[in-house]
Amino acid sequence: MTSVAVRPDPFALSEEERGVRDLAREFAQRELAPTVAQRDDEERYDRSLFTRMGELGLTAIPYPETYGGAGLSSFAWVLACEEIAAVDMGMAVSLSVHVLAQLCIFSAGSDAQKERLLPPMAAGSHLGAFALTEPQSGSDAAALSLRADRTDDGYELTGTKVWITNGGDADTYVVFATVDRSKGREGITAFAVERDTPGFRIGSHERKMGIRDSSSAELVFEGARVPPDARLGEEGQGLKVALGSLGAGRVSIAAACTGLARAALEHAARYATQRVQFGRPIADQEMIQSMLADAAVAVDAARLLTWRAARLRDAGKPINAAGSMAKLFASDTAMRVATDAVQIYGGAGYSRDNPVERFMRDAKGAQIYEGTNQVQRLIIAQQLIEDLRRS
Ligand SMILES: Cc1cc2nc3c(=O)[nH]c(=O)nc-3n(C[C@H](O)[C@H](O)[C@H](O)COP(=O)(O)OP(=O)(O)OC[C@H]3O[C@@H](n4cnc5c(N)ncnc54)[C@H](O)[C@@H]3O)c2cc1C
Repeated sequence: MTSVAVRPDPFALSEEERGVRDLAREFAQRELAPTVAQRDDEERYDRSLFTRMGELGLTAIPYPETYGGAGLSSFAWVLACEEIAAVDMGMAVSLSVHVLAQLCIFSAGSDAQKERLLPPMAAGSHLGAFALTEPQSGSDAAALSLRADRTDDGYELTGTKVWITNGGDADTYVVFATVDRSKGREGITAFAVERDTPGFRIGSHERKMGIRDSSSAELVFEGARVPPDARLGEEGQGLKVALGSLGAGRVSIAAACTGLARAALEHAARYATQRVQFGRPIADQEMIQSMLADAAVAVDAARLLTWRAARLRDAGKPINAAGSMAKLFASDTAMRVATDAVQIYGGAGYSRDNPVERFMRDAKGAQIYEGTNQVQRLIIAQQLIEDLRRS
């Protein structure tokens, strides 16, 4: 679909950034768009599309070439993410989690671990997953209970993870476990677990409301034996790895939400100019214009917050609050704009024959995963208060 006045080009992008954005846009429109509705309908993750993204160099945009990455900025990565999500939110989220898993390895792994684990992930031959959530610990991640018991030849993992994106299909799982529950957050430790680890299996698959073309699965560890070099970083450093990586990961979720909201607005605006009621296009009605105007402002604001967070990250600045602001605002925007798009379509919007109902279902999840929007508010408020006390 061609653009209305919401394309992300108000600032000069470098040639490289434009190149990545255009590559992702063309890939999404040519190779994701034709089948996205069907994959959503069939609740099917298509691994061949991930492989294709690997061939195009989209699976490790912000990581160094030494480890097979594209060696580009976080900014270039969010540009690509917006384009993919504007067509296929499920694939954007799956890719974003794959990039998140790589970040944990990149930030906490030894040189040997990075050399072993990252190149196949960067090439798109190994898919990554990030496994933090458990049945009894979601927002309160520090309360996780998956055990990592030390053995003579490594660790034995016992427990269950739930809601793990790419869970059914991944090759490399970054898993957070505790070596000593009595130590609380100081016991949490990260591991890179391979799919074929004895004692590890994929459990049930979630039947989701949205992003149904991505897989979300339960992971079951029944004394899964991992070698010592599966551990990422030191014992007790795991929560820091998880929260630090999520802080960066949220920026790509914000970009994906911006893409979804943009697509919903484009569809709604086009439909409004075509649908005639009371003898004129509904786009001439001020109440419709009001929804379109609010959506256009929110999409641009979401993008600006996202771009700010990405630029801060590229400058090596902390993005704790900036990333949370972007994720909070962009996911709320995606939900609102998609809901208004359904409203603008009227009955046709409620039909599964039009894409706006999928946008609405897909948007909801982003207010929940990678930290609920209540949790984002807590992070933003804590930072605000800390800054005030320091000043
Ligand atoms: C589509 C999808 C994909 C996901 N992918 C992954 C993944 O790849 N890896 C992974 O580890 N997890 C994943 N998750 C899990 C996700 O991160 C959790 O669902 C999320 O963190 C919330 O945890 P919970 O579901 O246990 O909700 P709870 O923590 O039980 O929260 C329930 C409600 O209470 C609110 N709440 C909780 N604490 C507070 C508080 N202190 N103040 C105010 N409100 C509060 C929450 O905001 C929420 O509204 C995914 C979830 C979904 C839906």
